[in-house]
Formats: sequence, structure tokens, C-alpha cells
Amino acid sequence: MAECKTLCEWCNHPFGQHVARYSCQHNCTFCEVCTTARLRFQCPNCQGVLRCVQPGNENPKA
Ligand SMILES: [Zn+2]
Ligand SMILES: [Zn+2]
Repeated sequence: MAECKTLCEWCNHPFGQHVARYSCQHNCTFCEVCTTARLRFQCPNCQGVLRCVQPGNENPKA
């Protein structure tokens, strides 16, 4: 049911509509604070690289 994630999986901080978030190849999604300061761009679930997802571009084809 949660196709479009709205909460950081690490701190449960809600994403605003215009806030960048970061996700890995398995769509684990985290806020910018967690990604940069806590997780260091590495997904804690799958060890994948977290990439920035810009607002309004939540389903990148690549
Ligand atoms: Zn967070
Ligand atoms: Zn992951």
C-alpha cells in the first residue's frame, strides 16, 4: 500500500512535498539528514548506495 513513501525509514520524519529524499535500488527511502549525517549514503538495510531523488521525480526510469 505504501507505493509512495512519505516517511524516512530511519527516523520516521515525514517528507514534505518539496523536500529531497534519498533512496537505494530497493527503494528504501531516507531523509537528507539521515542520509548525509548518519548513514553516509549507505542504505542500512541492503548496504546499497543512496541516491538523491528530487521532488517531483520519484520514479526515475534509470
Ligand atoms: Zn531520517
Ligand atoms: Zn536498501
